[in-house]
Amino acid sequence: MDATRRQFLRTSAMVAGSAAVLPSAPAWALPSAEVAISPTLSVFEYSQVQLLDGPLREQFVHNHDLFLHLDEDALLKPFRQREGMPAPGPDMGGWYDNADDFNPPENFHAFIPGHSFGQYLSALARAYAVTGDKPTQEKVHRLVRAFAATVEPSGKFYVDYHLPAYTFDKTSCGLIDAHEFAKCPDALEVHWRATQAVLPYLPEKALSRAEQRARPHKSVADTWDETYTLPENFFLAYQRSRNSRYRDLAIRFIEQDYFGPLSDDQNVLPGEHAYSHVNALSSAMQAYLVLGDEKYLRAARNGLRMVEEQSYATGGWGPDEAFVTPGKGLLDASLGTTHASFETPCGSYGHFKITRYLLRATGNSRYGDSMERVLYNTIAGATPILADGTSFYYSDYNYQGSKVHHKDKWPCCSGTFPQLSADYAISSYYRSRDGIYVNLFIPSRVTWSQNNTQCTLTQTTNYPRTNWIQLAFAMARPENFTVYLRIPAWAGAKTMLSINGSRAQETIEPGKFLACQRTWKDNDRIELELEMPLRLEPTDDQNRNNVALMRGPLALFAIGEIPSRLRREQLLAATAVASSSDDWTAKTEAGSLTFRPFMAIMSERYRLYNRVEA
Ligand SMILES: [Zn+2]
Repeated sequence: MDATRRQFLRTSAMVAGSAAVLPSAPAWALPSAEVAISPTLSVFEYSQVQLLDGPLREQFVHNHDLFLHLDEDALLKPFRQREGMPAPGPDMGGWYDNADDFNPPENFHAFIPGHSFGQYLSALARAYAVTGDKPTQEKVHRLVRAFAATVEPSGKFYVDYHLPAYTFDKTSCGLIDAHEFAKCPDALEVHWRATQAVLPYLPEKALSRAEQRARPHKSVADTWDETYTLPENFFLAYQRSRNSRYRDLAIRFIEQDYFGPLSDDQNVLPGEHAYSHVNALSSAMQAYLVLGDEKYLRAARNGLRMVEEQSYATGGWGPDEAFVTPGKGLLDASLGTTHASFETPCGSYGHFKITRYLLRATGNSRYGDSMERVLYNTIAGATPILADGTSFYYSDYNYQGSKVHHKDKWPCCSGTFPQLSADYAISSYYRSRDGIYVNLFIPSRVTWSQNNTQCTLTQTTNYPRTNWIQLAFAMARPENFTVYLRIPAWAGAKTMLSINGSRAQETIEPGKFLACQRTWKDNDRIELELEMPLRLEPTDDQNRNNVALMRGPLALFAIGEIPSRLRREQLLAATAVASSSDDWTAKTEAGSLTFRPFMAIMSERYRLYNRVEA
C-alpha cells in the first residue's frame, strides 16, 4: 500500500472515529480499513462463481425466489408496531410476530419479533450479488429504506425485548451485506443509527448464559441472549465503514472467558449452547484478522477441533442444542433420548463460516473435508422452507429417526438457510497468489483473471453419488498457474488424476491439497476419480460397536426393518443398488438391508447408527 493511501486511511478513520460522521461518497467505492492479517486464500466475489444444475443450485434458487416474494409490510410489521408506527399488512406468524402470548416452553409464538429480518435482507443481498437480478436489488434497497424509518435514537423497539443482541447482530449482518453486496447507498448510515439505538440495551461486555442467569431477569428468555457473537459483524462494519468506534465495540464484546481457555486448549464447550458458540468462533477469526493476535486463531482452531471430536458421523453436532462432556459416551446416549440432534440450517451456516475462515487462514484441506461432510449429510437433505415459514430445523439421529418440520414458523433456521445456500458457490473455490483452490465438488463455474488472462473453469460432476469430477478450462491465452485440488482424507489408494486424458505424474496424498502447476490452455481438462471406500465410524470411544456406515463424505442411513444381528463385514461389503439410485444394500442373515444418504430420504424412517457384534 502506498503512503498516500495509508495517510488517507488514517485521516478518514480519525474523522469517522472522532466525529462519528460517515463519508458522503458511496462507501463501497472507498477502500476498506486496514487489517493486521491478510489470509493466504481469498474468497471470490459472489458474481464470479455460479452453481450449475443440481440439488444445491435448486436450494439456492428456491430460497432466493421465496424471499424475493415475501410481503414487505409483513417483514417490517414488528419494527413498526414496537415503534408505535402505522403497521399495515399481515403478520408473518411464528417466532417473528410482535404479540404478548410468548410463554416458554409451551408457546414460542412471538418469541423474538423481527429477529430474522436482517438475515433475509442478507440472503437477498447475496442472491443479488450472485445473479445480478435487479428486482432483488430493488427489494433490498426498499427494505433498507423502510427499516431506516423505524430506527429512532431511543431504541423503543428494544424496550422489554428478550434478546436485543441476538436480533441486532442479524440486523447488523443484513445492513452490512445490503451495503457490500447490493450496493445500497443508505445501509451503512442506517447501520450506525441502529447501533446507537441498541447500545443502551446491551450489557457492558459479552455475557455467558451462566452470567445472564445470575443477573436479575424477568423471563427465562432474557438469559438466552448472544452478546458473544457480536464482534464478527462489528469488525466487518469497522472494515467497511472505517469507523473505529465499531472496532472498539467489537473488542468490548469479545468473550475473553471463552476464547482465553480455548486458545490454551482447555475444553470449555460442555453445557454451552451449540450453534451460538460455533458462530462465536467466527468472531475469534475476525479478531485474529483485524487485531493480528494469534491467540484468537488458536481459539478458533482448537474450538472447532473440540466440536469435531464430539460430532456425529454426519458432521452434525450439539444434541438438544448443547455440547456434551467428552469421554462419557454421551453422544451415543443422545441417540435414545432426543430427536433434536443437530440444529441443521444454523449449525451448517456457522460450520461453513468457521471452516471457510480457517481454510483461508491456514490452507489446510481438513477444513474443506469438514465443510463437505456437513454439507452432504445435513443441509443438502433439509426439506425446503415453505411460503408460510414452515421450516426444517433439527436433523434427527434418534434410533427412531425421521424428517419433520419445526412446530413454529419462521424460526432462526429460516434465516440461516437462505444465507447459506447463497454461500455454497463462494465456498467452493478460493484464490491464491499462484492460482486457484478447488474445495467443493459441485457442478459450478468460476471465472477469474490470472496475470490479466481471463480464465473460466467449469466443474462437471454427480459427486458424491459418483466419484468422477471433471474440470474444463476456457482461456483467452495459455497461462502458467497452479490448480489445487482437495484430496479428502478418506480417499483410497486408487484415487486417480488425469490431465487431457493422460495419467498425471503428481503424487496423490489424501488429506492435502494436490498442487497441479502447468501452463494451462483453452480446452484443457482435469479429471479426478476419488476412490470412496466404505468404512464404519462409531458414535464415540465408549461405544465402538455402535457404528455409522460411511462412503466418502456420505453417511448412509439404514432404512426399514433393522436385523437384530449385524456384523461389520456385512456392512463393509455393501454394494450400490444401481447407477441410477442413491441406495446401497448389505446382505445379512435376515435378508438385505437398504442404506440411503440423507439427501435421498423423504418421509421414511431411518437409522444412522447400528449396533454390530464385537
Ligand atoms: Zn436455527
